[in-house]
Amino acid sequence: MQELVGYCHSCGKAIYCENGFLNGTVQEDQTLECFDCQEQHQDSMS
Ligand SMILES: [Zn+2]
Repeated sequence: MQELVGYCHSCGKAIYCENGFLNGTVQEDQTLECFDCQEQHQDSMS
């Protein structure tokens, strides 16, 4: 089961909830981001 939750704030990729698992993350300001974009942020932070 796959449910469209929204779109990545950074790249516009669709974020889905699959069987209760979100294939992205919700940011502190409630925007969505895919894992690819989140990893890029983590790289820039370290
Ligand atoms: Zn993205």
